[in-house]
Amino acid sequence: MTYQYWNPEYEQMPRRELEAWQLARLRETVARSLRTPFYQKRLGEAGIREPEDLRSLEDLRRVPFTTKQDLREGFPYGFLAIPREEVVRLHASSGTTGIPTTVYFSRGDLARWSGFVARCIYGTGCTREDVFQNMITYGLFTGGLGFHAGAEEVGMLVIPSGAGNTTRQFRLMRDFGTTVVHATPSFLLHVEAKMREEGIRRDALRLRKAFAGAEPYSEDTRRRIEELLAIDVYNSYGLSEMNGPGVAFECQRKNGLHLWEDGYIAEIIDPHTLEPVADGGRGELVLTILCREAAPILRYRTRDLTGFYPDPCPCGRTHRRLYRITGRSDDMLIINGVNVFPSQIEEVIMAMKEVGNNYLIEIEKDGVLDRLTVKTEVGPATFRDDTRPLNALKEKIRHTLQASITINPRVELHESGSLPVSEGKAVRVVDKRPRDV
Ligand code: ADP
Ligand code: ZN
Repeated sequence: MTYQYWNPEYEQMPRRELEAWQLARLRETVARSLRTPFYQKRLGEAGIREPEDLRSLEDLRRVPFTTKQDLREGFPYGFLAIPREEVVRLHASSGTTGIPTTVYFSRGDLARWSGFVARCIYGTGCTREDVFQNMITYGLFTGGLGFHAGAEEVGMLVIPSGAGNTTRQFRLMRDFGTTVVHATPSFLLHVEAKMREEGIRRDALRLRKAFAGAEPYSEDTRRRIEELLAIDVYNSYGLSEMNGPGVAFECQRKNGLHLWEDGYIAEIIDPHTLEPVADGGRGELVLTILCREAAPILRYRTRDLTGFYPDPCPCGRTHRRLYRITGRSDDMLIINGVNVFPSQIEEVIMAMKEVGNNYLIEIEKDGVLDRLTVKTEVGPATFRDDTRPLNALKEKIRHTLQASITINPRVELHESGSLPVSEGKAVRVVDKRPRDV
């Protein structure tokens, strides 16, 4: 396999040089942070008054963590490190876990950001010959404009279709010969189901690749999309606090997401003890952004659960690879005292071929106990008048789930296309239990 690199000198930079680069950028970042009221106080309390107080990368551990709550408290301009007049754009997080947080960009920040996104896109083998349909929400969400700018930088023809409206998406794909799309994995599954429903033939489309991110999904879900649509799917990871997309991305090997260490310093910590986990271990990802001057954020607790592959990637990039992100530490559900991550449920059901493209997890109170219901769609071939195969499938799902999560769920089967689809990130969990205040 031949690999293409957008920034070969950075993507293949020897580790020692990369670390020296990180330390230099870290000091610049700390210098800028000290201009924000928030970090002046935070870093001051930790005895850091000037960048040279950090003598090595290890000294980063002296810097206190920054949380989503801190960012909310600094709202609106508490994290600005440059004059307001030099800020040319703002974006906000989706607000999946509460009030959205806002981030700011200078002109230089936008250029650096699109450079990282271009690197991700180009690394999957895309070129200016490609036609790119950006089927994700534009606006405050970083996924739309972030990918848009990176794709233009690569020189692809960009169709800013935004999310939703599958009929229009198909028309655009056919009219302009779209070869690459970007969407959430749940929307890609929805697109595939709609394609079948509307009788659109695969060979009427020139689709080759998809970038899928913004929400967790399992390896089986990736494979399902790849097989059903006959395309390559690349995992894309980012978060608004760290610019948005372009933080970590799969290369053509599709085995882990290269985290761009010339733009970010990554740590993996135990979310309970806050201590670093041993090499190769899994835990919560903590990120420091080195490529943004307007709003530096140090040691941000992403809540995202992952870890680093221990070995280097055969593609020749020296930047370490993250495991597929399985979810956020705050996604964890406690059902009758048992801890369950939604991703564990997805792993079980999406591995079954008879299960359709959408599912929903519901939790209710039933007397003193919690009741878990897993609703899945079934493929069009399975939904027939004969109830025997349906009952068998239900029992198979129930049984396999129980073996995996130790909870006996209720299973409901729904017709393909009947469970709700969201335009943004999929809402997979509906927790109807009354909240203790
Ligand atoms: P919010 O935190 O409100 O959802 P963002 O829109 O900034 O705000 O989304 C970033 C979050 O989306 C990440 O922290 C992560 O939880 C999730 N995410 C993004 N890409 C992926 C991915 N490829 N796999 C799993 N989760 C992802
Ligand atoms: Zn690689």
